[in-house]
Amino acid sequence: MPSIPSEGPATDRLDLSVVAPLYNESQNVDPLVEWILEALVGYPGSFEVILVDDGSRDDTWGRVAAASARDPRVQGLGLGRNVGQTAAMMAGFDHARGRVVVSLDGDLQNDPRDIPALLAKLDEGYDLVCGWRQQRQDKFLLRKVPSWVANRIIRRLTGVQITDNGCSLKAYRRDLLDRISLYAEQHRFIPALSASVGARITEMPVRHHARRFGESKYGISRTAKVLVDLLTLKMITTFRSRPLLGFGTLAAPMVAGALLFAAMAAVAAARFVPSKAQALVFPGAALLCAGAAFYLLMLGLVAEVALNSERESANEIPTAWEVR
Ligand code: UDP
Ligand code: MG
Repeated sequence: MPSIPSEGPATDRLDLSVVAPLYNESQNVDPLVEWILEALVGYPGSFEVILVDDGSRDDTWGRVAAASARDPRVQGLGLGRNVGQTAAMMAGFDHARGRVVVSLDGDLQNDPRDIPALLAKLDEGYDLVCGWRQQRQDKFLLRKVPSWVANRIIRRLTGVQITDNGCSLKAYRRDLLDRISLYAEQHRFIPALSASVGARITEMPVRHHARRFGESKYGISRTAKVLVDLLTLKMITTFRSRPLLGFGTLAAPMVAGALLFAAMAAVAAARFVPSKAQALVFPGAALLCAGAAFYLLMLGLVAEVALNSERESANEIPTAWEVR
C-alpha cells in the first residue's frame, strides 16, 4: 500500500521537474539541455532538469556534470551501472522535487517545445497527460509495426484508451508518481497502472524526430519482453484482488481436457481395443490434465490466503488522494 505522499519543506519543492534518462548519449546531452532550457524560457514557475546517466560507457556523465556546473537548474544523477530506461526514469522521479514531473527521452527524439502544452493540459485537471507521437520517425518494420500491435493489445487488455503508450514524453502530478511503482520495461504501462489507481488520464499529439546522434538501444527482442510484461500487468491490475478467478480460468481448459481424455479412455476400454497406446495414453493424459487443474486451483487458493492476510494488515480503503 503506497503511503500518503509526504510533501517536503516548502522550500524543497519546485513547480516542475523535467526528467530524461541517458545511456551512451554523449553527443545529445548539450543540445538536449539547451533545447529544454529554451523551451522553458517563458515558464513562470521554478523548475529543475534532471539528467539520469544510466551507467553510460561513453562521455555522457562528463557532459552531464559540465551542464550541471554551467546551470544550477540542471541536476545530474549518475547510476552506478546500466539499469535500463524504466529504472533510470524511476530514479529520476525519486529525486524530482517538482509538483509536476515531465519525462522525455534524452536522445532528442521527443521535442521539449511540447512541454508547455502538456503542462497546460495537465492544468485542465488531469493527473497524467501522455504524448502521442505524430509522424513517428522510426523504422517501420522494427518499430512502428510491433508498437502498433503492442498498443492494440495493451488497449484491449487494460481497457485504457491511450494510443501511444510507448511515448516517453508525458506529464505527471507528483502524487500520481508516488502511487505507482514500475520495474523491468514497464514505463509503457504507466497509463494502465495510473488508471488502476484512479488517475485522470488524457493524451495529446506531440512532435517526434529522427535520431541525429548515437543509436537506438533496442532491437526487435523488446517486443517479446513487452508481451511478457503485459501478462504481469494483466495479473496485477485484474487478478490482484481475485487471484482464484485468474487461476481458475487457466484451470478450466485443463478440467475440460481431463474429462475428454477420461471419456476417450472409457470408450477405448469398453470396446476392448487391444492397443497399448490407447490403454496408456488416454488415462495418462487425463491424469496429467487433472493434476494440472488441481495444481492451478491450489495455487489460486494459496494466493487468496496470502492476499487475505495482506488485506487484514493493510486497510484497502482508497486514500484521500482519490477523493476529488
Ligand atoms: N535509455 C536508458 N537506458 C537504457 C536504454 C535506453 O536510459 O538501458 C535511454 C536512452 O538513452 C534514450 C531513451 O532511453 O534517452 C530511449 O532509448 P532509445 O532511443 O534507445 O529507444 P527508442 O527511441 O529507439 O525506442
Ligand atoms: Mg529514441
